[in-house]
Amino acid sequence: MDRDLVQELVRLRLRDNRLPEGRAVDLRETTGDGRPCDACGEPIDPKQRAVFAMVSREWMSVRFHVDCYKVWDAERLALSEMNGHGRPSQ
Ligand SMILES: [Zn+2]
Repeated sequence: MDRDLVQELVRLRLRDNRLPEGRAVDLRETTGDGRPCDACGEPIDPKQRAVFAMVSREWMSVRFHVDCYKVWDAERLALSEMNGHGRPSQ
């Protein structure tokens, strides 16, 4: 999927609170199991690499394609800096 489109979807979902804004505390890289990516909504099939993330502030777990994870991580950082409650990463 087109990166610009994923970025739009991620921004929209962050705004709607469908994606967490907190920092991922537990990251696990694995392969897909056919369930949809929380960023782009496309299934992550077993041939693709997936990232499972547990987010500290919301205690929410999310799953992404590796590339979608990178988009989410960049967007949620930009958002929390904009909102003034960004914390330096450890
Ligand atoms: Zn995705």
